[in-house]
Amino acid sequence: MKRNEVDLNKISPMMRQYMEIKDSYEEELLFFRLGDFYELFFEDGIIASRELELTLTGKNAGLDERIPMCGVPFHSVKPYIEKLVNKGYKVAICEQLEDAKEAKGVVKRGVIEVISKGTIADYEMLKEHDNSYICGVLDFNYIYILTYADISTGTINSLTINHDKEKLVNELLSLNVKEVILKDNLDSELINILKNNYGIEISFSSELLEDRYNDLTESVNDVRCKMGVKHLLYYLVVKELKDMSHLDKVNIIDKEDYLQMDVHTIRNLELVETLRLKERTYSLIWLLDKTKTAMGSRLLKDWMLKPLKSLAKINERYDKIEILNNEFILKEELRNNLAEVYDIERLCGKITCGSIGARDLLQLKNSLKVLPLIKNIIKDLKFGYEIDTFDDLYNLLEKAIYENPPVGIKEGYLIKDGYSDELDELKAIRSGGKDFIASFEKEIKEQTNIKNLKVGYNRVFGYYIEVSKGQVSEIKEEYHWERRQTLANCERYISPLLKEKEALILNAEEKIIDLEYKLFIEIKEVVKKDILKLKQTALMLGELDVLASLAVDAEEYGLVRPSLNNENKLEIIDGRHPVIEKVSKEEYVANDCVMPSNINTLLITGPNMSGKSTYMRQLAIIVIMAQLGCFVPAKKANIPIIDKIFTRIGASDDLVSGESTFMVEMNEARNAICNATKDSLILFDELGRGTATYDGMSLAQAILEYISKNIKCKTLFSTHYHEITSLERKFTNIKNVHVAALEEGNKITFLHKIKNGAVDKSYGIHVARLAKMPDEIINKASEILVGYENAARSKKIEKVQLTMDFEEDKPNIKDDLRDKLKNIDPLNITPIEALNLMYELKQLDK
Ligand code: ADP
Ligand code: MG
Repeated sequence: MKRNEVDLNKISPMMRQYMEIKDSYEEELLFFRLGDFYELFFEDGIIASRELELTLTGKNAGLDERIPMCGVPFHSVKPYIEKLVNKGYKVAICEQLEDAKEAKGVVKRGVIEVISKGTIADYEMLKEHDNSYICGVLDFNYIYILTYADISTGTINSLTINHDKEKLVNELLSLNVKEVILKDNLDSELINILKNNYGIEISFSSELLEDRYNDLTESVNDVRCKMGVKHLLYYLVVKELKDMSHLDKVNIIDKEDYLQMDVHTIRNLELVETLRLKERTYSLIWLLDKTKTAMGSRLLKDWMLKPLKSLAKINERYDKIEILNNEFILKEELRNNLAEVYDIERLCGKITCGSIGARDLLQLKNSLKVLPLIKNIIKDLKFGYEIDTFDDLYNLLEKAIYENPPVGIKEGYLIKDGYSDELDELKAIRSGGKDFIASFEKEIKEQTNIKNLKVGYNRVFGYYIEVSKGQVSEIKEEYHWERRQTLANCERYISPLLKEKEALILNAEEKIIDLEYKLFIEIKEVVKKDILKLKQTALMLGELDVLASLAVDAEEYGLVRPSLNNENKLEIIDGRHPVIEKVSKEEYVANDCVMPSNINTLLITGPNMSGKSTYMRQLAIIVIMAQLGCFVPAKKANIPIIDKIFTRIGASDDLVSGESTFMVEMNEARNAICNATKDSLILFDELGRGTATYDGMSLAQAILEYISKNIKCKTLFSTHYHEITSLERKFTNIKNVHVAALEEGNKITFLHKIKNGAVDKSYGIHVARLAKMPDEIINKASEILVGYENAARSKKIEKVQLTMDFEEDKPNIKDDLRDKLKNIDPLNITPIEALNLMYELKQLDK
């Protein structure tokens, strides 16, 4: 039965209430609280039972037909919500807003929160290393404003980008945004890409929140950014009913302050996950993350994806790393103390917009406990951070929160003895009651002489005196016992005295639970007052944690402090690729990369598998490490501040968007060429490989020439087109290098060593042999190669010599052929003429 088929006059009052509430939440799955369960009705029930594999039942609500229904217990609702939200549903939580016992008529109910993919705040699904962003996008026709927030940590950022859809998608992907809020559904192309290609949830909301949270944007001048914030907040606060009081002030991100990388580069360089398995293991962040706190781990990722451009700021980070490594003992103490700190940022998020329990407050307490120690260490390190130790808050939590609380907050056992007199009194009554029961049992045993009599308690019948069937006759009228329950072999009774005490004890129990809950909420409110300050502290701890982690990296991996320059000079001596060095079983061969200001491009040749791609990645990774404030894997490094990195490495088909390798390749190349400045770094790895030889070679050469003439930025360009290497003679800013390989007979040994000059051999067949290709094929290929080489030598094939100016076209034989062919009219030709023609054509193609 469907919701719109219901006769509202016939259904029960509670169902009528459901119908009214559901009308405002058409889009969402409505979790309707009924006692200990959340129930879903009608279509919602059917969807939930299917998606969660729950039994679909029915409810009689005054109608002829039963209403489809499916329910989940309220105490274990989280995983269900998580699962649905992950599948792209939104969930509206409808709670009972008054105590069912005190309600007159139907219990008041209302939706207290809506949860969607971008606003899950305290669920297991959140990974501690990652931020989880929801992003509002405003389209101003000439720019996009992106406002993105992590509800779980309370950070909110505003970013302005050019009006370029590709950039927008790129940005949303590299931020790993889970949900995007658009004003309308007009841009169906964008919606389609985000939703279908990348699984990003799309929601629509056009209004702005005007009357609240204005202090978040106090210092923001740009009205468009303000609008962006109000747009996102309207969705969060009005549509999803979230308490956002833990949000920080808006952080305006200016891309110009950071080294920019697009999402391809981030992937190609395997900064945060590997290309193939998409796992953190073996990524750069995996290698460098030695942080002890969740805040630190997330911040390190943030630093890695936003390396700095300010020499002064980077050097500040280096200085701190140096201090930490000089103060070995303080560093270790700092890290040991940080290890005691929980995810304060997310605890703060939970306190305002999630459901917290006493365990969370204990985590907060334990985190605060080490702050005085950390404060002393910072003082000794002379780092100049001001750190608050929250003594009052710590004392409150220490005094109030019971050490071993249950998960829920409605079962009591939250508050310690000695915190509240009223609570202690109630507890005394309760335990007094329990003492009474013990002595009461002894007393009536004596009085009645019934030896195996027992006094017990159960939830349904309360306290009772249990007497076995055989001894029931011993019970005398004068006791005034009343029968409460009959079991198979015993009877249970209640006496007037027991009844009186029962009332007192049960009353106390109930009051204790209510009072503990009330006290807990009061304490939570006190903590809430400190939230913004707590978050600043969390941020500072995160930063200390990252610096300590970078210091450990420097020691552990033998990194050196680089010098930085703004003069376009690059000099890396004995550089290494830190991840490969760590993971590979082979000894890593260190390589220099030297490009004075007059050299912009290294043109790299060398056999397959010799280490070209690794060498290129290595440079980019060293630059990123340097600019994020980390020491670098080299003997010595002097690095020019880079503004953007572009890469085209490896043949990774963009399977999702269904574009071919070559198209992807050209897109990425175009993106680099159109956006690079003289301060950028471009890595083009075997560009043009995805198409036919001459096409590819021509494009590669043209692109290389363009970069050398027009952009003049640092570029590593690897190629297997040896013909291109002659460009070195034409452009003084291009230099040939090659990766050396040792050829001994049929065998080849890769030295992985970069040397000056070009190679003229590609050793493809050697590599095939290494790959254990059958001998028959290897031998045949060698024969064919010799044939080609001889032919090339004898004919000096002009067409292969695309060396320099391929734009100056030489008379082209192929075209003569074509002209001739065009003039043939096959229908008006004699066999003899045809034969002659064929001969002529054959002569032409020499
Ligand atoms: P290419 O791009 O020339 O085909 P790669 O860069 O993919 O070669 O490297 C091929 C293999 O050689 C990889 O397995 C890599 O780990 C290893 N390798 C590359 N450079 C080095 C080096 N400098 N020292 C040690 N091993 C290396
Ligand atoms: Mg390669």
